[in-house]
Amino acid sequence: MSRTPLIAANWKMHKTVSEAADAAKKLAGLCRNIKNVEVMIAPPFLSIPTVSRVLTEEKSAIALAAQNLHFEDQGAFTGEVSGPMIKDAGASYVLIGHSERRQFFGDTNNWTNQKIQAAIRSGLVPVLCVGETEAQRNDDQTFFILDKQITDGVKGLGSESLKNLVVAYEPVWAIGTGKTANNEQIREVHEFLRFLLEKRFSKELAERIRILYGGSVKPENIKGLMEIEDVDGALVGGASLDPEIFIQIIRFKE
Ligand code: PEP
Repeated sequence: MSRTPLIAANWKMHKTVSEAADAAKKLAGLCRNIKNVEVMIAPPFLSIPTVSRVLTEEKSAIALAAQNLHFEDQGAFTGEVSGPMIKDAGASYVLIGHSERRQFFGDTNNWTNQKIQAAIRSGLVPVLCVGETEAQRNDDQTFFILDKQITDGVKGLGSESLKNLVVAYEPVWAIGTGKTANNEQIREVHEFLRFLLEKRFSKELAERIRILYGGSVKPENIKGLMEIEDVDGALVGGASLDPEIFIQIIRFKE
C-alpha cells in the first residue's frame, strides 16, 4: 500500500501568536505547489485559531495540529485544553505522548492511552510519539519500551478507531541534540513498530498507518531518512521553525 508522506512541524513553545501567523502564511505560500506530500504544523495552543484562519485565507492544504490535549472533554482541570476545544479551534491532528511531555510533565502510557481515546472521540487524528532514552538503548531495552508504549497506548481501541493513527518514532537521545539515529537503527525500529501493529490488529491496518521518524531531522538528512523502508515522513522540531528551512525538508523528493 502506498502511504502519503507526512512532514510535520512541532513548534513546541516557540512563536507568539503574530509570529506563528506570519510563519504559517509564509509556509502556506512556499507549499503552494507541493503535491503528494502532506504537511502539518503544530503551533502552541494559543496560536491555533489564528493559524487556522491564516491557512483558510491562504486556501492552504497544510494540516493543523495541537501539541497535547487533556483526556477529559471538560471539567475542573485548570490550565488544560480538551479535544473538543482543539477541534473547534481548527486543528485536525494532535501530538500525544511526545517525549518532552513524558519527561517533564509526567505523561504516562496510561495517560497516553486516555488521550488517544479523547482525540478520537473529538474527531482529531492522534500522532502517538514513542521512543527510548539513551540509557534504555544502552541497556538493550529499546524494543521492550517501544512495545509497551504502543501496546499500552492503543489499549482498548479497535482497528476502526485507529485507521488514521500516525505513529512517530523519536529516540529521546536524538531530539534537539543534533544526533540522528543511524539508518539501521531506524529501519529495524520502524519494521518492529509495523510488525507490532500487524500482530495486534491486522496487516491491513499496519500497512495503512504512517510511521514518522523524528530527532534532529534537517534539510541535509531528510532525503536519506525518507529512503529507509517503513519511514513515512518526519516530525521536525528545531528545523521547522524557519519556513525557508522547513520547506527544504518538505521538498525532500527534489
Ligand atoms: C521533536 O521535538 O519532535 C523533534 C524531533 O525535535 P528536533 O527536530 O529539534 O530534534
